[in-house]
Amino acid sequence: QLASREYREQTREVTIGSVTIGGDTNNTLLIGGPCSVESEEQIRQSAELIKSLGLTALRGGCYKPRTSPYSFQGLGLEGLQLLAKMREEYGLTVVTEARDATHIDEIIEYSDVIQIGAKAMYDQGILRASSKSNKPVLLKRGFGSTLQETVQAAEFILSGGNSNVVICERGLRTFETKTRFTLDLCGVSYLKEYTNLPVILDPSHAMGFAYGVPDLARACVAMGIDGLLIETHPNPKVAKSDASQQLTHEEFTALYESLQPVAQAV
Ligand code: PEP
Ligand code: MN
Repeated sequence: QLASREYREQTREVTIGSVTIGGDTNNTLLIGGPCSVESEEQIRQSAELIKSLGLTALRGGCYKPRTSPYSFQGLGLEGLQLLAKMREEYGLTVVTEARDATHIDEIIEYSDVIQIGAKAMYDQGILRASSKSNKPVLLKRGFGSTLQETVQAAEFILSGGNSNVVICERGLRTFETKTRFTLDLCGVSYLKEYTNLPVILDPSHAMGFAYGVPDLARACVAMGIDGLLIETHPNPKVAKSDASQQLTHEEFTALYESLQPVAQAV
């Protein structure tokens, strides 16, 4: 299989904007930004934060896969255009998710990275369309998906012709309800051992509460992973999605600084 470690012709490196991760690189890409793009003012503040820290990748959802139809669904195309504006003005790489196959062409057109959400991991329309693009794909593991199913979803993209696949562990549904999900670090070890794909971790969605995110992020970096996806919002209290887990910009900055010594020790 193309994702397996034995498949040596396949490069494990994936380039996201100006940063190459995986393979023999030792880079850890920190992707930060709000859960949802909500307004120009909001996403601009996040872009300024990312830029001011010397980071390169800004995230923000525009087509949100909400559990309830009555929750904020995202700004759609207007949000994508705001992200593209931030890319233009701040020179950032933008990352945003496809909720379903109806707007995958828009995501491919506007985003530098195609994020496939946990709930969309089995969406064959998205997987097949992503495989025909050469944009890097951030494939999130479903919260009830086995490692094998996750790798097979990646295989759809790889075998269709796109070798730029990054797997993202974002927590599993377990019996535990005090935290939103349970981050599967054992699974991350498995992916590092048996696949050739870069692995990014998302402690924000796993934990579901901002208080746990910095500790988890440091634990992830200590595992020698290829990147982190962290949600941060200028004012998390009024966030239109995932309010409880988003770090303030001050918390994000403190977390970023605390990661440096951990990264150097690995
Ligand atoms: C997100 O990244 O905002 C998101 C919806 O994540 P997930 O697909 O992991 O739930
Ligand atoms: Mn979110």
